[in-house]
Amino acid sequence: MQAKRWWAATVGLALLAGVCAASSAWFGVRAWRARLPTPPSRYGTSTQALLDLASHAGLASRNEASFESGNIGQIEHPKPNAYVLNLRSDNDDALPNWWRQWFYLRLSDVPVGQQVSLTLQGAGFHNSYLPFYSYNNVDWIQFADSAVTQPAPSVLVFTAAFAQRTVWLARYVPYPYSRMQRFIAQFSGHPAAQISIIGKTPQGRDMPVLTITAPGDQSRKERVVIHARTHPGEVASSFLLEGLISFLLGPSVRAEQLRSHLVFTILPMLNIDGVVAGNNRVTPQGINLEGTWLGLAPPSLALDPLRTPPEVQVFHKYLERLLVAGPAVTMALNLHASAGEPKNQAFAFAHFGSTAHGFTAFEAELYNKQIKFIKLLAAAQGPAWLTGGSEGGRDFLKAQIPERWWWEHFGPRVTALTFESTYGLAGDQGRWLKPNDLRAFGAAVGEAIGRFHFASDFCTASVVKNLVKCR
Ligand SMILES: [Zn+2]
Repeated sequence: MQAKRWWAATVGLALLAGVCAASSAWFGVRAWRARLPTPPSRYGTSTQALLDLASHAGLASRNEASFESGNIGQIEHPKPNAYVLNLRSDNDDALPNWWRQWFYLRLSDVPVGQQVSLTLQGAGFHNSYLPFYSYNNVDWIQFADSAVTQPAPSVLVFTAAFAQRTVWLARYVPYPYSRMQRFIAQFSGHPAAQISIIGKTPQGRDMPVLTITAPGDQSRKERVVIHARTHPGEVASSFLLEGLISFLLGPSVRAEQLRSHLVFTILPMLNIDGVVAGNNRVTPQGINLEGTWLGLAPPSLALDPLRTPPEVQVFHKYLERLLVAGPAVTMALNLHASAGEPKNQAFAFAHFGSTAHGFTAFEAELYNKQIKFIKLLAAAQGPAWLTGGSEGGRDFLKAQIPERWWWEHFGPRVTALTFESTYGLAGDQGRWLKPNDLRAFGAAVGEAIGRFHFASDFCTASVVKNLVKCR
């Protein structure tokens, strides 16, 4: 135990200082890669392995897109109308290539008015998708279905005749830290919104929390905690969150009901430094923040200060203060986005299962609450968009994810679950999801939260498009 704690402290301090550790850790990474048989699951990527990767973070960057959230490896230009874009994963390929997904770059010498081919190679996940391009880094256009081919599993080729010489390209519409800041700042004068800076990231950036509730006595309310962008490349979760926040602060009767019954504590971006760095999965120190809610033994609510990365510590300490101050937390949503097959639906991870399948009544209570919420969300958005009703078992207890921490301390009193939105066709909608689709999905999340908490007196229209009936 002593030795283990010493190791943790040493690595933790090395991570905090950004120190490039001994090369033996790098060989450990290579060995880990070699024995990795399948894409790592949510629970399968060991914190140990990801911590080891921190040794690689101090090298000179090979990122050819050196702006906020930019990320691409070598850009080749073999012919005037052909580019080869080499994907680069986090911190100069410190992760296995399974995680090479996020790219965002600028080309400034593109021939105008003729077909240009862009070959993106080195993908880890072998799913096709339609990237976006922009001439001004503000307005984004998705490549047409017919303009994207996949000649090999790890290669996508997309073509277009561009109208300007400067073209921005990205996996999906980018959602950097500065965009998040601008979005929440617009609500700074709203009577039901409060923006708090709860701490700093390791690179010194502000970590904001947006609180949404009607002013006045809070003691009879319940609290819903939401956080997003643990994984920087999962920009879809930010568009979903925009829709949810706009809904909650909007003029509908439902939103008013939500604000008067509930307090929403929203951390819109957990891995801010990773977002700025253009990473897909981890922090600039190589840490997957999802698996680092490293709790001390209950009943202590605290996380281990020696092993928990700073971003998680800041958020968690803020939550501890809220748990003392009240009102009680009833729901904790952890927003992600999945880069699966295009027709994969959005989904939520339910935990445990029914008593009929051997789970205790205490465990089944959480499962039933999660299923209730998933069904309400499917009803609000349309059942074709969402899956996630199956029993999740106890796997979530094997990793130090937020849901485990909530379960260990609050049992079924807190309906804690991860929700994964998607970039693709969301089942089979017949079209690729745009940011506005994700924003509508976010409004449906607000709808489902309301029905979950006070179904009997919640405004009766059941789908988002009918909101007007409740005004
Ligand atoms: Zn994720």
